[in-house]
Amino acid sequence: MKVVIGHLYADLMNIYGDRGNIIALTRRAQWAGVEVEVRNLALGQTLDPREYDILFVGGGQDREQSLIADDLQKVKGGSIVEAVEDGAVVLAVCGGYQLLGKYFKTGEDVVLPGIGLFDAWTVAGNRRCIGDAVVECSFTGERRTLVGFENHSGKTYLGPAARPIGKVLHGFGNNAEDGFEGAVYKNAYGTYLHGSILPKNAWLTDHLIASALRRRYGQNIVLPPVDAGLEERAHRAVIARIRGRGKMNTGAI
Ligand code: GLN
Repeated sequence: MKVVIGHLYADLMNIYGDRGNIIALTRRAQWAGVEVEVRNLALGQTLDPREYDILFVGGGQDREQSLIADDLQKVKGGSIVEAVEDGAVVLAVCGGYQLLGKYFKTGEDVVLPGIGLFDAWTVAGNRRCIGDAVVECSFTGERRTLVGFENHSGKTYLGPAARPIGKVLHGFGNNAEDGFEGAVYKNAYGTYLHGSILPKNAWLTDHLIASALRRRYGQNIVLPPVDAGLEERAHRAVIARIRGRGKMNTGAI
């Protein structure tokens, strides 16, 4: 089996080690015996939605976001939506996540249009949401936690057609108001969590790879188990640090 990963705007959208997500996807897929091809998708490059199994876009500041907003409108947006409707996997972090929603209104009141994949919109806030975050999720059917590092001023609000990735146990999440983080639509995931997120959350990495394989090779595909001992230690270390400060919203984990 093989997965083709499209790394969108790798040179522009890559903060807090977002590229680590590509490395985690590649390594864990290879360790499970899956062949991997990574293709960079830069400004101006088109993409054939049927060729890609996983698309990734990282975070970036307003300047980079305005460049990619234009490219998303003119070149790639339609193909990304088509790929997701066909079951492709997407992971979008922070600035990338914001532009997969309907729009991002910057601090200068400039409205950067998004592609509307998520029923969500973002407005620049007047404080930065920065620090470690822990999110409780159940979209795989099992109760799990995600840990990551967020740094954004944008506040994202979800409309009725979007569901969040999970509930914030520590940190700010989408808007520091409603207690939710991220957005999910089909196999597309938007999140504020850098970290990079996938190396610290191997269960999500494996879920993305398995979802991509099932779309291409059939629903009964099971990803062979791959040791995640180190990743789980990194995950637990973040949770322990926050609990140690007495800062977790719930004692449940
Ligand atoms: N400019 C956006 C914000 O601060 C995105 C930042 C980021 O991707 N880290 O909300």
